[in-house]
Amino acid sequence: MKKNIYDYTLNQLQIMFQPSFRAKQIYQWLYIQYENDFSKMQNLPKSMRENLNNNYIIKNLEILHIETSKDGSKKYLFKTKDNLTFESVLIKMRDKKYDNNGKIIESEKWTFCLSSQIGCKVGCTFCYTAKGGFVRNLSSGEIVEQVVQLKKDNAILPEKRINIVYMGMGEPLNNIQNVTNAIKILSELDGLSISTRRQTISTSGITPKIRELGNMNLGVQLAISLHAVDNNLRSKLIPMNKAYNIESVINAVKAFPIDERKRVMFEYLVIKDINDDLTSAKKLLQLLNGIKAKVNLILFNPHEGSEFQRPEIKKVKQFADFLIQKGLLCTIRESKGIDISAACGQLREKELAKTS
Ligand code: SAH
Ligand code: SF4
Repeated sequence: MKKNIYDYTLNQLQIMFQPSFRAKQIYQWLYIQYENDFSKMQNLPKSMRENLNNNYIIKNLEILHIETSKDGSKKYLFKTKDNLTFESVLIKMRDKKYDNNGKIIESEKWTFCLSSQIGCKVGCTFCYTAKGGFVRNLSSGEIVEQVVQLKKDNAILPEKRINIVYMGMGEPLNNIQNVTNAIKILSELDGLSISTRRQTISTSGITPKIRELGNMNLGVQLAISLHAVDNNLRSKLIPMNKAYNIESVINAVKAFPIDERKRVMFEYLVIKDINDDLTSAKKLLQLLNGIKAKVNLILFNPHEGSEFQRPEIKKVKQFADFLIQKGLLCTIRESKGIDISAACGQLREKELAKTS
């Protein structure tokens, strides 16, 4: 069976293709030129192009559908070789910079939200992805190819800075091998050159795997889906909390190597009348005491059949104001792409309904 060329780190390719500068050339074709046809890699010898054609595949993912939001965000629905679907989101933000005269120059900043699995076995009760259960892990190559296709489809220049968040479908730490391998491939200087410091793994809090990730010392950023400040409620939202409770997650975070200039992000899904009160905000403040943290409040996005409701924006602002007053960094996740179905898995579900 043919292998996925995006699965390999530069070191691995250098062992497979000699002399080693050939591997760099292949990397440049794949990640700078976004070339998806081996026969067009003109500076490689013909025999090597044939070898690549016979034994490797470049294009594993097909774009089935793109939804563009009014704010410029785009949601991509991909189909794998084994006919499964998953999605990635490209978020465009305005980035303000100043020139030498202090004048504001605006530029675009990109964040790619990637999937790590098809489905998810964690089973959070608020999450749309959880409903379909777990299907399979994405390979490293399938994770990397999301970035290549998003860059190519939007004609994003190779040198443009990109941030990566593993906040699409799936629990990245339940696919830690493939995800960390993809992180390394994405960060290769001869390729996409996306520093590990600009890549954020979001996890529902699998304590031993947070420790395992920390021990790898990749320099990657960490986001914790906390969502609740008391164990009863968190266990209702994230059943796995019964095994790895809030205190164990906080302890694992404290042991995680954090870049001095960075903070651990705590995601807090705000649900109407469930966790949107100031008492919860106070408890959150206490819990994060002693951690270089920033809080990201996410407005719950209702989906068909969900038992929860969207909170009032006034209450979310009060919650945020309280934390900010106490000196904690806190943002409310902009509802980027809300008109193109914001919660994970929704686009996939819509497409499945159409085709079935
Ligand atoms: N499994 C990892 C990363 C992906 S989850 C984790 O749980 O951290 C994807 C993101 O979507 C998480 O931040 C989660 O909080 C958010 N999410 C899931 N269901 C949602 C909903 N109904 N409304 C708003 N955000 C939701
Ligand atoms: Fe999985 Fe994250 Fe959804 Fe929970 S919120 S079911 S961990 S994808």
